[in-house]
Amino acid sequence: PERSMVLAEQAKRVAAEFDFSKDAVNKAVQEFRREMDEGLQKEGTELSQIPTYVTAVPNGTEKGLYMAVDLGGTNFRVCSIQLHGNTTFSLTQSKVAIPRELMVAKTSKELFSFLAKQIENFLKEHHEEHYASTLQRRKHGGASPEQEEIFNLGFTFSFPVHQIGINKGMLMRWTKGFDIQDAVGKDVCALLQAEIDELHLPVKVAALVNDTVGTLMARSYTSPGKTGTLLGGIFGTGTNGAYVEKLEKVTKLTKNKDAGEYDHSTGEMIVNTEWGSFDNSLRTLPNTPYDVELDEKSVNPGIQMFEKRVSGMFLGELLRLALVKLVKDPSIPLFKDENSSSNDVHSTTQIQNSSPIWQQWGIDTSFLSVCAGDSSPGLRMLRQTLDKDYDISAVSAEDAEAVRDIAAAIGRRAARLAAVAIAGVIINTGRLSTSSTGTATTESKAGVNPPRGNVEVKEEDVIDIGVDGSLVEFYPNFEEHIRQALREVPEIGDHGEKRVRIGIAKDGSGVGAALIALVAGKVA
Ligand code: ADP
Repeated sequence: PERSMVLAEQAKRVAAEFDFSKDAVNKAVQEFRREMDEGLQKEGTELSQIPTYVTAVPNGTEKGLYMAVDLGGTNFRVCSIQLHGNTTFSLTQSKVAIPRELMVAKTSKELFSFLAKQIENFLKEHHEEHYASTLQRRKHGGASPEQEEIFNLGFTFSFPVHQIGINKGMLMRWTKGFDIQDAVGKDVCALLQAEIDELHLPVKVAALVNDTVGTLMARSYTSPGKTGTLLGGIFGTGTNGAYVEKLEKVTKLTKNKDAGEYDHSTGEMIVNTEWGSFDNSLRTLPNTPYDVELDEKSVNPGIQMFEKRVSGMFLGELLRLALVKLVKDPSIPLFKDENSSSNDVHSTTQIQNSSPIWQQWGIDTSFLSVCAGDSSPGLRMLRQTLDKDYDISAVSAEDAEAVRDIAAAIGRRAARLAAVAIAGVIINTGRLSTSSTGTATTESKAGVNPPRGNVEVKEEDVIDIGVDGSLVEFYPNFEEHIRQALREVPEIGDHGEKRVRIGIAKDGSGVGAALIALVAGKVA
């Protein structure tokens, strides 16, 4: 009994280090709002607030057949999307792994001609009519036959680019193991288009797409109601958000003589916040010893400080650092005692030398979901996972509870930090002040959740938010924790929180890219 009391106390103490109080949330929201405004005015700020040249979100009535490609870290995806115009779509897709040698090729041509070849294969397999037109083009030496249909394509390119037009952006640097020097500083859309043209494919690279903007667009197309989605957020390996801003507030674009062309008629522009780097200078972010250690041992100390407290790539590591510290402290009994947890046979907890717990990044964030979701007696799931995935066997129920409490505190803090970003956007865009009066209730379409507890929220009062990523999708009650924190922000409160509708945007990169290609086609 004494052992379990000491352990429980220590676990509570560590969990409490991850508390992120109402007061702290509110201070961070103020800082987020300040950085949002600053980023709209000048370059080189903590929130980059990148203008995307996309000036409208869809409302679900858009129609047509579009293509999208996605060059992520490891795979190249090609898809075609038929937008039915009634908030639904059908999607055909193929995926190939990018050969390692192309990631570090001598010339960008090697990589981009490979990508164009995949587009050709896709047309051949799934779009006979377009492929036939390819052959026609080849026969006529590239001249386009009459009445030919050109596929508009959205290009999702998940590397840092300096965008200067809806289908124009210069690669700033490679990340994720890519390294092809001659591509740096070049327009990646032009590089792809050149290879497409060489194969005479009837495809036009119409839009350069950031995945967060894709999420926002996809959600806006599929969400119920006509108000349009305000914000798209990603909570996966990393975290980032894009939202609809008033064009007049994006002064670093509107006052820039060298800015590319864009459509002024909507008075809006989608801005990519790059909020992973919110508050890099730690004015308001929490900073436990575990956060400090994680950052020091990361490849980019001092950078992406918000992301390091919020996203899937890092939460497992925070838990690992906390657990290792407890295990290494002889005065704390975690994983140290003899216990009688398994089948009443006394056994001793064993941590194998091979346990991933001893390795940097050894705990995956999905383990936090296991911890938060285990409601079985004695936390059986959690203990099984420790045994199977982490080579820690015969863990007692008390030990499991200690792990659970710390993991839950890390997950909860991440969700409350996510709420800071969401609250900042909701407040700064002024969406809360546009409210109608009346008592009609929200109409909900099949398969879509109405706002929680929404008895009286009118559809036009809904503040719609699209999210994507394994963390928000699978971490138990992530949304509930976000909502709790939103209610603690006085500018939002219970009333504002009820107006917020959060929905998963599935297939964001494909559908979103198609929708941006559509918008781009209208402008051109
Ligand atoms: P990406 O962001 O790379 O497109 P995901 O949205 O799937 O891909 O996010 C992957 C991240 O989510 C990884 O960091 C992983 O640790 C984490 N993750 C995977 N499964 C879960 C889960 N069940 N609960 C919480 N996090 C998870």
